[in-house]
Amino acid sequence: MLKAIQAFLTKEIREENEPKDTAVLIRALCLVDFLFIGINAVVLLADFGMEIGVRAFAGLLFIVLVFALSYRVKMRALVFLYYFAVITNVVMLTTHMGLPYMFQAQIYIIFMIFFYRAAGTQAERIASVVSSVIIIFGLIFYVRTHDPVLNIAMADYGFVTFYCTAYIMVKTVMLAFFFRKKFSASEEKIIKYSKKLEMLATTDPLTKLQNRRGMINHIENFVEETKSNGKLLTVAIGDIDLFKHINDTYGHEAGDYVLETIAKIMKEFIEGKGMVARWGGEEFLFSLEDINGDYAFEEMSKLLHLIERYEFLYEGTPIKVTMTFGLEEYDDNTGLDKVISKADEKLYIGKKQGRNRVIY
Ligand code: GH3
Ligand code: MG
Ligand code: MG
Repeated sequence: MLKAIQAFLTKEIREENEPKDTAVLIRALCLVDFLFIGINAVVLLADFGMEIGVRAFAGLLFIVLVFALSYRVKMRALVFLYYFAVITNVVMLTTHMGLPYMFQAQIYIIFMIFFYRAAGTQAERIASVVSSVIIIFGLIFYVRTHDPVLNIAMADYGFVTFYCTAYIMVKTVMLAFFFRKKFSASEEKIIKYSKKLEMLATTDPLTKLQNRRGMINHIENFVEETKSNGKLLTVAIGDIDLFKHINDTYGHEAGDYVLETIAKIMKEFIEGKGMVARWGGEEFLFSLEDINGDYAFEEMSKLLHLIERYEFLYEGTPIKVTMTFGLEEYDDNTGLDKVISKADEKLYIGKKQGRNRVIY
């Protein structure tokens, strides 16, 4: 039941390419108006008879009409229609019942719909404020110079005052909630968008590994966080052997396939031990966390054999792939750049010694 009501209230507006949130707000406000103006109309009917009752119900009908039209007209038209519907009711009720019931406060509340609608113009917003002020002061002036038509029966005075106050409260709270919802929705969008941007800025598109920037951030964070408890860190740099030859022999696409596949193998291997990133073309950087140089040497040797034995198969053609690694234990006094270049020097030594090996 509640779901059905919600679905009904949040239904799209017709032929519109702006968000439906303003229409939903107006529908919700219409329901509140319907309830309170309806109660008021019943009271007026009971206290003053048919003629006055009919006037009050005619105002109520205007609200019903706006609600129905909210599924048919364009958003701008809907906002203006609702504004007029409320003002019509307020003017009628205030000239009949006077100022003490604060119907005029409805005008303070509804001009906010012009601010809520993001697609509205500044001129519309200014016009809504100016016209609201003019109508409110006009009403006050009018009622002070003309006696209200009706005198609410003493028996009903307290009750009318009560629901008129509730009317203002409910609408104000409702508007606050709608503004809040819109505000947090756009905030969430910004957070999501900036997370995506950060992801794009730190991820390598081919291998989906972290890129250079992501990896440096990661290592710096690790060092910072573990400074006090003196955790170990070993950095390894790996480079695919004779990768140019793979490209030249099997084609660039096959080279990409090798990069993607090897990235998956390495990522799976390093899971729980640290992180791997694409450092450059066919070079990868590893952080082996809480692992000293000797133990890292064993680990990287395992990875080396895993790659050596892996059957890379590109479009039915087997490709032999090996890698060479250089290792260096992180040292706070040396600094990250120097540690990486030391690992790189060892990688170079490994290449010179004939490749497919780990140098520590
Ligand atoms: P070594 O064993 O000494 O490292 O030899 P190598 O052939 O691997 O080294 P070299 O630096 O001569 O060649 C690296 C090649 O990697 C050259 C470049 O075209 C290729 N490469 C770099 N990035 C990519 C990429 O994203 N995709 C493909 N398919 N090839 C790439
Ligand atoms: Mg290479
Ligand atoms: Mg290289």
